[in-house]
Parts: sequence; structure tokens; C-alpha cells
Amino acid sequence: MSRLRPIVVGNWKMNGLKSSVAEFSRITEGYDIGLRAKTDLAICPPFTLLSTFAVVALGSRVLIGGQDCHRSPSGAHTGDVSAEMIADTGATHVIVGHSERRADDLDTNAVVHAKARAARRAGLIAILCIGESEAERDGGKTLEVLETQLAASVPDGATADNLIIAYEPIWAIGSGRTPTLDEIAEAHAHIRHQLVLRFGDEGEDMRILYGGSVKPSNASDILAVENVNGALVGGASLRAVDFLGIAHSY
Ligand code: PGA
Repeated sequence: MSRLRPIVVGNWKMNGLKSSVAEFSRITEGYDIGLRAKTDLAICPPFTLLSTFAVVALGSRVLIGGQDCHRSPSGAHTGDVSAEMIADTGATHVIVGHSERRADDLDTNAVVHAKARAARRAGLIAILCIGESEAERDGGKTLEVLETQLAASVPDGATADNLIIAYEPIWAIGSGRTPTLDEIAEAHAHIRHQLVLRFGDEGEDMRILYGGSVKPSNASDILAVENVNGALVGGASLRAVDFLGIAHSY
């Protein structure tokens, strides 16, 4: 078990309407003193719900995050949302480099790097996602891919207070499939090693989350793996009972 305080983050993706406040309230109500002693908890709703959720979360210590941000603080970028705007809602975190954005919006490592810097500028903690495709894993390239993504997308000067890494194998997202526990341990050990090589002792304190088909039935095994300091949860974060069940695996 790691000495780092874990964080379980829910990524709601493009799900949630005003009517979802009730489900979110169940999450805040379930984050009781016992659970708070064990783990941080965050939900990243769509932008349209950020301000509302930030108000609902007040007093509960549930953290709120965006799912992406633009690299600039403001300007002529129709449809985009800056890190400063996200911070202005009361959010404290923002996901950058999710594989769905890397695929849908062509976010390269350089773009992710700029977004992570934007998050820091705005005082947000970046949850920076990396992960291999199925073909890369089958080709034995996983560790190499992770190394390249880390080197090119994590900005210099990152600290444990402004950066969290999320390891999300692309083929495990929404598929119901996960790597074996040994494979997760190997990937996380490699990420830890790279962070320590680059950031020294600071790299020991950076949290590394696992994401991809985490659910209540597999969470306790995955969260017990060395160097797994929490989870980034998609589908199973939409229902309070599942999300809290994952958090209760600690
Ligand atoms: P999943 O998604 O838990 O539904 O696999 C994880 C993610 O994309 O962050």
C-alpha cells in the first residue's frame, strides 16, 4: 500500500444534465468521514455542470474538475474553455490528454504539454492521461510509448502538487477489459521510474492513477497494486453506488 494519499476521480465524459444533480448529491452525501479518512474523491462533469456541481459540493470536500482546457487564458477560440474559466467555477482539477481527446481532437503530446502548463498557470491540478493502444501493447511497445508520452507531454517544473498522471490503456477504456495486475504493476513502476529520473524525490510523490474499466468488483485488486495511487473512472462513476463502491475499496 502506498504512503501517498490516493484520489478516485470520476470522468463523466459527455454525460449529465441538470437532472444529474441528484446523483451527484448522492456522491457528496456518501463521502462520509470514514471515506474521507481514506481517499480524496473528485468528479469531472461536463463543462455545463461545473458551476452547479461546485456549489453542490461545497462543504462535502468532494473535488470538482474539468475534462479538458484550452492552452490560452482567453481569446478568439470559439467553443473552447480555458483553465482560468474552469478554476473560476470552483474546480480544482482538470483532465488533459485523455485518449478520447487525443483521438477526437487530435491533441498531440505538444498540445497536452501546453494544456498542462495552462492548468498550472490557472492554479489547477492537471490529471494528465497517457496510455498505449492495443496494437502497441501487442507489439511489445507499451513501456516505450508511455516513456515518449511522458517526456513530451509533462512540462518541466511539474510538482506533486500540480500534476497527477493517469495511466489509461486505450483498449481498456469502456471495454470491460483490463490489463493483468502484473501488467498494471509493470506500467506504473515504469512511469514512477521515469518521473523519478526527471523530477528526483518530487517524482516519488506524484500520484499515478490507473484508468480503464475500473468497477467495484475489480477496484480492490487494482488499487492494491504497487504505485497505483488511485483511479480514473469513466462509466462506473455515473452512479453513486458504483463510484462510492470503488472508493470504499480502500
Ligand atoms: P471507463 O473510462 O472507466 O469507462 O473505462 C475510463 C476513462 O476513460 O477515463
